[in-house]
Amino acid sequence: AKAEGRNNYRFFLPSMHERVKERKTIEEDLRNALEQDQLELYYQPKIDCRTEKVVGAEALVRWHHPERGLILPGEFISVAEECGLINRLGAWVLEKACKQTQAWRDSSLPGMRIAVNLSPAQFQDAELVESVTKIVKDTALPEGTLELEITESILMNNPEKAVSTLKELKALGVMIAIDDFGTGYSSLNYLKRFPVGSIKIDRSFVNDIHVDLDDKAIVDAVIGLGHSLNLEVVAEGVEEVEQLEYLREKGCDFIQGFLFSKPLPATTFESWVSDRHS
Ligand code: C2E
Ligand code: CA
Ligand code: CA
Ligand code: CA
Repeated sequence: AKAEGRNNYRFFLPSMHERVKERKTIEEDLRNALEQDQLELYYQPKIDCRTEKVVGAEALVRWHHPERGLILPGEFISVAEECGLINRLGAWVLEKACKQTQAWRDSSLPGMRIAVNLSPAQFQDAELVESVTKIVKDTALPEGTLELEITESILMNNPEKAVSTLKELKALGVMIAIDDFGTGYSSLNYLKRFPVGSIKIDRSFVNDIHVDLDDKAIVDAVIGLGHSLNLEVVAEGVEEVEQLEYLREKGCDFIQGFLFSKPLPATTFESWVSDRHS
């Protein structure tokens, strides 16, 4: 049988029936979660590689399940996508993240920028541009403050549509980042055509960057490619100081990772940044 890593703690593989039941349960619980305010955004700092100052944050959703405790997005984003809840969930995330950023900018963190993850279904939603327009207006976030993180697959599905959506978003002053760069079907040609501002090197390439020659070569190439296309390059999953040093030496612009901080609840994030900058 095809053993799956995430189910390794079990002594048997769950039957199809059990899996379907489990998904159904998550789906029902998730509907309640949206109504009963069980979701929370955590924020992971994005750091300027050279100055080591915080330039912004990535919003990452968490679910406080009444019985199961804290659940990570890996367990429920795909369910939300499949059962059609992702657009409501995504709208909630976008609004929450922008309002929080507005509050920070008006008080203790004036220069704060925010990145929000968009799943493919959200990107294809006809109302995306409209709802982004509304939230950007309502929160009066200046141009360049909100960044949407999308994956390569979004661009490949329907390139013409994707270009026009991205142009509309760009006209609103919204930045676009390609997340998990290098793990999908990268088309360098598309990268040139799309109004993208940055690429995020996937964690899997960063992991062994200080020891593995292949990963070094890939990361060097991605940084070179990004810069020659005038893109900002972000490395994610930086855990070791050696990784940071390597990336800095190669001219990587920004980094995120546990070396600096895990994603934090809003109030913790705020004091973390204030402490760091004082
Ligand atoms: P992602 O967008 O690639 O986010 C980065 C993930 O890596 C986060 O996991 C973060 O906690 C984790 N991470 C950050 N630094 C490190 C590090 O140094 N080492 C390691 N091992 N991990 C690190 P998280 O929060 O569990 O999110 C997982 C994925 O779920 C995200 O991957 C993203 O694809 C998705 N996701 C999270 N929030 C949202 C959301 O609001 N909307 C949508 N559509 N997807 C979301
Ligand atoms: Ca992301
Ligand atoms: Ca990523
Ligand atoms: Ca991801």
